[in-house]
Amino acid sequence: PENYSRTFHGPILLRRALGCSYNVPAVAMLHRVGTEKVVETAHAMGITTLNEAHYGLSLTLGGSEVKLLDMVYAFSVLANGGTMLGAPVPQERLVPGHRRLDPVAILKVSDAKGKVLYQYDQPRRQEVLRPEVAFLITDILSDNRARTPACGSDSARKLQDRPAAAKTGTTDDFIDAWTVGYTPQYVTGVWVGDADREEMKHAPGSRAAGPIWHDLMEWLHDGLPVESFPRPAGLVTEVVDGVSGKLPTAYSPWRMQEIFIEGTVTTDTDDVHRPFKICKQTGKLATIYCPPDQVEEVVFEIYPPKAEDWVREQGIPQPPTDFCDVHGPNLLGADVAIIAPKLFEPVRGIVPIVGNARPGGLQKYWLQYGPEMSPGSWSPIGPEHGHRVDNNILEHWDTRGLSDGLYTLQLSAVAGGGLHEASIQVLVDNVSPTVTIHPPKPAPDAEPEAAFELGKHEWINIQVDAEDNLSMEGVEFYLDDGLLGYTTVAPYTLRWTLVMSDINPSLNFDLAEPTTQVEGDKIIKREVVATEESRILTYSVQQGTAITMTKAIRGPGGLSYVMAWPSGRSITSNGAGYTETHKIHVVAYDAAGNEMKSEPVRVHVVHERKEED
Ligand SMILES: [Zn+2]
Repeated sequence: PENYSRTFHGPILLRRALGCSYNVPAVAMLHRVGTEKVVETAHAMGITTLNEAHYGLSLTLGGSEVKLLDMVYAFSVLANGGTMLGAPVPQERLVPGHRRLDPVAILKVSDAKGKVLYQYDQPRRQEVLRPEVAFLITDILSDNRARTPACGSDSARKLQDRPAAAKTGTTDDFIDAWTVGYTPQYVTGVWVGDADREEMKHAPGSRAAGPIWHDLMEWLHDGLPVESFPRPAGLVTEVVDGVSGKLPTAYSPWRMQEIFIEGTVTTDTDDVHRPFKICKQTGKLATIYCPPDQVEEVVFEIYPPKAEDWVREQGIPQPPTDFCDVHGPNLLGADVAIIAPKLFEPVRGIVPIVGNARPGGLQKYWLQYGPEMSPGSWSPIGPEHGHRVDNNILEHWDTRGLSDGLYTLQLSAVAGGGLHEASIQVLVDNVSPTVTIHPPKPAPDAEPEAAFELGKHEWINIQVDAEDNLSMEGVEFYLDDGLLGYTTVAPYTLRWTLVMSDINPSLNFDLAEPTTQVEGDKIIKREVVATEESRILTYSVQQGTAITMTKAIRGPGGLSYVMAWPSGRSITSNGAGYTETHKIHVVAYDAAGNEMKSEPVRVHVVHERKEED
């Protein structure tokens, strides 16, 4: 769904999302909680409508009808700290799950002489929400700072001398605008709309209903004492990071106080603001080889992968992914050195380790590896060796059982009683990328596998999602098993200009007996079956295990045939024209050389029979 402003706001705290009436987070929350639970709570709080069996996710966005009086009564539950006050609903009107109290309209009836005929005295009370929950919502709806970004701090929902909680709303067709809000003394609701259900000129609730609500509330409270919403027991205040809403770390730049129900305070620490060690000289991730005075710690905002597009649109700086390649171990002429793989090279499978182990008086050398930049523990690679190695294989390292990530390789040599060491970091990547093709469509709203039309459509755009856990290399595109193109730049797309090869096979229907013919490595079989009306020809060419098949029918409707190649390509021809079917698949490669073949997709291209046919 879209927000009212038709822009996405990225990851956001619930407080701000609710304060600003952002729709996307509301729908996400509805999806998480479930519409049944939301409707259940709405009924308990006083809403008498919403009685369909099922509601979709547009429920929160004003896609369902509610009554203004019900809405105001429901907000009175929040204003009264979770308690509903009113007169009992008569037994015959009770609906299971619905409110058991009604708002009261007539407080007193007296006759002309002032004799009291009826007086409503003490309201009945029923707790509908826990007081802590009601207060949390009131706190958000009255938090003027929470709605500042979208609504301006001087919004119509703010009363001049007292706290007030308010919520605006607009139906998804812009026909109705609502503002419902409260102080500890009054709850009021305003609906602005057109009774004939004409669309208002894109006036959101805050603009149309808000000012009316504001003036009404100012008038009602004129001369009344200022009251703040009473805070119930069972709430605690905690300082959290202002972006993640989690406990701040040394890297959290701005913090805020947040209220929690006791026992629900987050125990997670801020995972948005994260420090990275950056080499000043290259701007890349620093390694142990970068001089300490060239290394600085920089805090970046890291958001969940779902927010990737938003992060890009906002231009939020992201940390580099490559390691500094200027500062490295000095390999030139070193007697103890790992030469290959290179520093930070992605590797997979069984990796030959090439290098030097040739100090004078060499007694033995060995290789070991450990996780990350400075391993806490080491594992041996092969046994100890006693022979000299000069720019040659030192060992073979089997990485197949390791989890993907950064590893340190260390070569140690003992010579003349001294220990010589050299180490290098590599990226082990044995996990293949994931890859899927978006099935190409002639139009965005076309059915799956809808045909492209030659002449009308010039090309087919093949879009691919390919991701690797460490680093992608590129994607190969195949049409009917033939390589069509290769790209290393994401997003991975390729445009195939439509061509058709109208093969009109020479079809001989005059065959008395089935025949089998061998031509080189091909076995060619022909068979004609005659019925009263038509003749059916089956013609196959087998080469190895691959069979190209043609099936043709000559009958009253003319000639029709199907040719099918082992690659998945096929041509169907009838009186009206040709349909050519192609199979597209792609292969994604990561930087270490792991590959993954996609599931194939089929595309159909039609064109009308040519005149000369
Ligand atoms: Zn560096």
